Formats: sequence, structure tokens, C-alpha cells
Amino acid sequence: MDDNILEIKSLTKRYDQHLAVDQVSLSVPRGGIFGLLGPNGAGKTSLIRMITTITQPDEGEIWFDGHLMGYQDTQKMGYLPEERGLYKKMDVFEQLIFLARLKGLEQKDAKKKVKEWLERLGIAEWGKKMVEELSKGMQQKIQFIAAVVNEPIFLILDEPFSGLDPINASLLREEILELHRKGTTIILSTHRMEQVEEFCQRIALINRGKNVLMGEVQDLRQQFKENIFEFSFETLPSDEILKEYEQVVTHANTLSIQLQNIAEANAFVVKMIKMGHILTAMKEVLPGMNEIFIKQVKRTSL
Ligand code: ATP
Repeated sequence: MDDNILEIKSLTKRYDQHLAVDQVSLSVPRGGIFGLLGPNGAGKTSLIRMITTITQPDEGEIWFDGHLMGYQDTQKMGYLPEERGLYKKMDVFEQLIFLARLKGLEQKDAKKKVKEWLERLGIAEWGKKMVEELSKGMQQKIQFIAAVVNEPIFLILDEPFSGLDPINASLLREEILELHRKGTTIILSTHRMEQVEEFCQRIALINRGKNVLMGEVQDLRQQFKENIFEFSFETLPSDEILKEYEQVVTHANTLSIQLQNIAEANAFVVKMIKMGHILTAMKEVLPGMNEIFIKQVKRTSL
């Protein structure tokens, strides 16, 4: 079996004269949580709509599970769109069964699964309500059930936590991690970089419809590091001593300095200890995904 469940090759999408996706290529490893990132209007939704066969690419190929993707593959997929698409005037239970049937489930299985999921997410008593009677967060949970009811092997979640209170966000977080543990491949599209750091092993960043960055989160944080080291001392060295160093930031008993490398960081520690300062902690500070996102988007927006 192919290690990548999804391979996108030079995908292009135009809306009239507007080039929304421009020769994007990416590979999504089987079983991981993959972050699809980009600023507003980057082309993420356009890309997802092609992966889910809602729209057709103008150029390029999508390979799914080892073959050129076709409509039948959507039966193995789940998609939680950012724009919620539930029928307002239909009751929750009937609607979820209808959506599950569209994904190929038999009536009996659809009923069983929908019932299980409603109970699991603590909303069983809302089954007979019309969608329009539900709060935004509640509708979000219903839409999540619609995305996972067919037990997809590949799940796309676009801003899954938007509109959820901390308790429901935590509930959903556990469900997403459980799906991941069971081997579901997940694409997570979000503007929240702390979610990317928490969930994603790998990301692709697109801007203006083009590939900007792709790789493992840990590797990217290493790749873009700026040799910032953080030291904690029982008593901080004086400003006089620190003035010869670059980018010194002090906070309580901790200071951050930009140095050349780890050897220079060690030399700094030795120097401070010789001066009588007692070191209590030291670490290299890697950039967060937020910093990397902002820098790379700015660089490619010029
Ligand atoms: P966001 O983070 O804001 O959701 P996105 O990365 O999902 O943005 P897309 O929705 O894919 O971005 O939009 C990419 C570009 O294509 C934008 O300039 C948008 O205005 C344009 N676009 C998207 N859908 C259409 C459409 N149906 N017709 C015309 N232009 C469109």
C-alpha cells in the first residue's frame, strides 16, 4: 500500500480569469493529521472542494489510495466544511440518516450509527429538533457527525472548533484524537496555529494559490530557528554585561539571547557561572508555527 493516501499533482483551478489554485502539489501520509494552512483567500477551500469532487480541477491530478480519484472515493471520505450546509427545516435525526445514506450506509446501519453518535456527543435529546432551533455550536456538532458517520478513512476538517465553547471544543478534540488513533487520515484546515502545533505532524502552507512550504512541523521549527537561547539564573547578569549580546529580552529571572550556535550558548553559561551567577535552566527557543506562518506569508506576498 502507498504510504500517501492522497497525492495532489500540479492542481490548478480558475474562476473566470481568477487563478485560485496554481499548480499546487502535495502528499498526505496515511494515518497522520495534516495541516492545510494559508491566509484568507489562499485557495484552501478551492483545493478541498476539488479533493471532495465538489468541483473539477482545470489542470492536474488527484490520486487517492493509490489510484486516480473518482466520485466513488467520496464514500470513504468525510468533510466538515467551514460553511455549514445543513437543511434548516429538517429534523436532526432524519437529516443525519439522510446524509449517512448518501454516504452508502443501509437504513438500519445509518439509524444505529446516528443514534450512537448523538449519544456520544451528548445531544441525543436534540434528535427531534429542527436544525434551525439549534445553537451554532450544536449545529457544528451535528455537522461533525455528518462528516464521520460513514467511518471515513480520510476526513477533512475545516475550522472544526469554530463556534464551540471550551467544553464542547474539548469533547471534539478527544473525538478527533480517537479517530486519529483508529488510523483515520485527517486534513485539518485552520487559522489557529496552536491547533496546528497540537494536532499536526505535517503541514502544507499555500499563499495566493501556490505552494509555499511543506514538511513536518518539528522539522520546520528547526529549519526556521534563529538561534535564540533562553537562560534562567538565580540572579540575572547586569545590563552592562548583557549589552554586548544581540536581541536580549529579560523577564523575571529569565533572559533570551540570539547567539551563533549551541557552543556559544555554552560559552555564555560558563562565563556567567564564573561571574558567580547560578544557572537554573537553559533551552533553545524554536519558532512557533504562528511566527513561521506570518514570515512565510509575508515573504510570498510581496
Ligand atoms: P479562507 O481562509 O478565507 O476561507 P481560502 O484559502 O479557503 O480562504 P478560497 O475560498 O479557496 O480561499 O478562495 C481562493 C480565491 O478564489 C479567493 O480569491 C476567492 O475570492 C476566489 N474564489 C473562491 N471561490 C470562488 C468562486 N466560486 N467564484 C469566484 N472566485 C472564487
